[in-house]
Amino acid sequence: MSEWGKQLDLFGADGFPEPSRDRIGEIEAEILRIANSYGLDADTVRWKNNRRVMASVGKNRVLNIHKIYQRATSADLKILARVMSGRASNRDRDRFQDFIETYLPRELGKGKSRLVIMPSRGLFHDLDDAYRRLLPLLNEPMDPEPKLGWSAARVGARGITWGTHRDTPEGPLILVNAILDSPDVPNFVVEHIMWHEICHQVVPPENGSSGRRKVHTDAFKKVEACYPRLKQAEKWEQDQVSRLIRRHYRHKW
Ligand SMILES: [Zn+2]
Repeated sequence: MSEWGKQLDLFGADGFPEPSRDRIGEIEAEILRIANSYGLDADTVRWKNNRRVMASVGKNRVLNIHKIYQRATSADLKILARVMSGRASNRDRDRFQDFIETYLPRELGKGKSRLVIMPSRGLFHDLDDAYRRLLPLLNEPMDPEPKLGWSAARVGARGITWGTHRDTPEGPLILVNAILDSPDVPNFVVEHIMWHEICHQVVPPENGSSGRRKVHTDAFKKVEACYPRLKQAEKWEQDQVSRLIRRHYRHKW
């Protein structure tokens, strides 16, 4: 198993990366140790995906806890234990809410077009960081500012859609394919995808001579070329796309 493989179990049933089983085992041990030190009587952890309950101690000393806590630090776990044991300060409660806002998946749309989006802080890459590093490449601030998030890891028949830019009722939204939230994907690749989608917002599509809408216009390419590692990122994407597709199908649930 390669080095990154030890840290990551690739993608869970929801299509987002999960820490490796070893890492989750460590987190479970830590959760129980902290919970016990706050007087919570539990000796088993059960991971839940219920959006309304972050954690509760159930029957048979089982601690039910939301899957987003697989991404928690020791400090986050201590705050959770204080909230559960009724010992939370106002500051703890604020930080508890912050944690949920930072990690809880969001749902967009209804029915067939329903999308589950992970907030920008990935397991390995932070889309907010990438966005902030890129803004100086623009002459003026983004207005309106796009919302950022990860879409579930997905590959298509003709390759991988690395990112998308779309308009939603709440404003522009940039999504990056969670297949890139992996430690073997360099920062400059995530940055390039983010930059490409920023360019879609900054450079509007044109109607070509045949009347067809053109998005990757010359004007678009000119702005996209402002990203200093464009060539390097495009090369990485071309070289790695088939490996990422193979990996995706090999681990398909
Ligand atoms: Zn594009």
